[in-house]
Amino acid sequence: MEVDILTIAAHPDDVEITCGGTVIKMTEAGYRVGILDLTAGESGTRGSAALREKEARRAAEVLGVVHRENLNIPDAGVENNRENKLKVAQKIRDFKPHTVILPYWKGRHPDHYTTGHLGYEACFLAGLAKLPLAGKPHRPFKIIYASQYVPTVRPSFVVDITLQYEKKLKAIFCFSSQFSPPKELQNLFPSRSEINARMGSEARHFGHMIGVRYGEPFVMRETAEVNDIVKIPVKSI
Ligand SMILES: [Zn+2]
Repeated sequence: MEVDILTIAAHPDDVEITCGGTVIKMTEAGYRVGILDLTAGESGTRGSAALREKEARRAAEVLGVVHRENLNIPDAGVENNRENKLKVAQKIRDFKPHTVILPYWKGRHPDHYTTGHLGYEACFLAGLAKLPLAGKPHRPFKIIYASQYVPTVRPSFVVDITLQYEKKLKAIFCFSSQFSPPKELQNLFPSRSEINARMGSEARHFGHMIGVRYGEPFVMRETAEVNDIVKIPVKSI
């Protein structure tokens, strides 16, 4: 199963929150998108791994991705070790993505930033011929980092998700175990409307940076190439 874009994330629901709108936009454009979740999210306070897996499958349908898979690495214990790197590298060879989306390489949750490093190194290893991996060596052409969890970082670019925003929310709310706490816990956990407001203000913030209603931020390590300076988008004043 080959894909154009592979998104790699630590927990089920990370893709939806940090780049769900972009994934929807790309699947709507006809690209084949796959999701690789590294953990089942079993250490999260709410919801079992089995429930989150069911939720992840429903969300994948909303996003329109062709494949979603879980590597079952222990949650809250994602380590950038050789075993995990080879596991991810094998998937990169299997799926042959042109573009890989990783979590930004810094942040609060160790699983998130570790996945950023692990994913990058796995992309590198996937291209080495002599490693104990099946299939032909493959490296993605492009690696970009979804940076919404680290809103203080200035994005390299923002994707306009205005038309995809409602569907993004729908995908996020497939994870109802995370966002719809039972009544007695509602003062401990953010409610659905709180999450809704938070997502909205973040998407508005990043959208504002490029002059649209809703946006999602990304960082890339490389400098962007421009060939026609008259057609550079986003107005300066
Ligand atoms: Zn997460």
